[in-house]
Amino acid sequence: MAENTEENLLSERVDVVRERMAQACARSGRDVDTVGLIAVSKKFPADIVHDVHRCGVNVFGESRVQEALQKIPDCPGMIDWHFIGRLQSNKVRPVVSTFSMIHSVDSLALLERVEAIAYDEGPRVDVCLQVNVAGEGSKTGVQPDQAEAIVERAQAFNNARLVGLMTMPPFAPDPEDVRPHFAALRALRDTVEQRCGVSLPDLSMGMSHDFEVAIEEGATWIRVGSAIFGKRVVPRHAE
Ligand SMILES: *Cc1c(COP(=O)(O)O)cnc(C)c1O
Repeated sequence: MAENTEENLLSERVDVVRERMAQACARSGRDVDTVGLIAVSKKFPADIVHDVHRCGVNVFGESRVQEALQKIPDCPGMIDWHFIGRLQSNKVRPVVSTFSMIHSVDSLALLERVEAIAYDEGPRVDVCLQVNVAGEGSKTGVQPDQAEAIVERAQAFNNARLVGLMTMPPFAPDPEDVRPHFAALRALRDTVEQRCGVSLPDLSMGMSHDFEVAIEEGATWIRVGSAIFGKRVVPRHAE
């Protein structure tokens, strides 16, 4: 029993997350099947990924290319990997060949690069456009008023499939304070869909401390790290 303690703890945390998801869905009249859980395994080793995978989680997220490429070969082969971190153009090739979805495309140039590399590499890749709906407080993502032009342009792409929008608002102790940002992303998605005549089904928003609010505002992907894996040890010099 003793050696299973860690796995039991992880399985309890996954259960708690699933229960929180179910309650948020119930409150907002949504089917739980419309919300995907991404277990964000950054800074945790492959053996912990195995444990969480055994709890029935199949989608994992990584935010650092180097770390992910080292870890993934030691993880279960059935896992569907999503890239959620800042992506430099010289890292697009390994990301496209390893991940099925990139949540964090934050410029037209990067999207064009993903399209070109995905054409080269073969597999199509799903992409979310990261939008800075919070303004000043967060630096990553395109400005909301740039989204329409990028979506318009992406209609010509066959290999990078733009499926939705992603946002990462600055941390607020009270999740209610980020609700307006999640609502804004959804409203922007609705507007752009209408104006461009395209379908953008996915909204990637919500993390450990605020995913209920994100679900209530329409999230289809929540990116959950610490609520499953526990606190990350922050290295003295991050990368
Ligand atoms: C680390 C990370 C998460 C998960 O954060 P938690 O607060 O641990 O749930 C989600 N999204 C992105 C982009 C991240 O880098």
